[in-house]
Amino acid sequence: MKRLLIDLDACSQCDECGMLCSYTQHHYNNGITNLREFAHFAIVCRRCDDAPCVASCPWEALEMQETKMLKRYMMRCTSCKSCSRACPFGVIYPETIPFVISRCDFCLGRLRGDELPICLQSCAHGGIKYADLEENEEESVFKASDYLLVKTDYKWDRVKEPPKKR
Ligand code: SF4
Ligand code: SF4
Repeated sequence: MKRLLIDLDACSQCDECGMLCSYTQHHYNNGITNLREFAHFAIVCRRCDDAPCVASCPWEALEMQETKMLKRYMMRCTSCKSCSRACPFGVIYPETIPFVISRCDFCLGRLRGDELPICLQSCAHGGIKYADLEENEEESVFKASDYLLVKTDYKWDRVKEPPKKR
């Protein structure tokens, strides 16, 4: 199955993302901002028990779900960036919280034959790939969802078993 792979380390080298996007719902859509936030929540967020990002939001727009994955309610978020300042680990980048949000639908159902998403063709930094790819922890490639893999060396060492009490 073909998946998008976003390389967060390559993305972080780029000052201003000029990636094109063919999502049809709004003209200035830049789906990569949406993917970057999702990738950070899925792979980089440390899932704090007290979640200062959630506590800092004046509009209850952030929620720590039962799965310990953060969710941002776009219709409540005013892009005040308080959550970005509150996170002690730098997980929430201010530029991925625009007031007018972007979406990525992985171009599902819109690609014909060997056609590639337009974002691949417009990123000069190799931040996005689209191919038959699988999770590969040795190469720092992690699955964030059925359609999205994330490559980054800036992951934290996730504890697979809870530490034993002393
Ligand atoms: S940017 Fe949005 S989610 Fe973050 S604190 Fe402000 S309103 Fe809440
Ligand atoms: S404060 Fe940062 S690391 Fe902690 S839950 Fe929020 S985004 Fe994740």
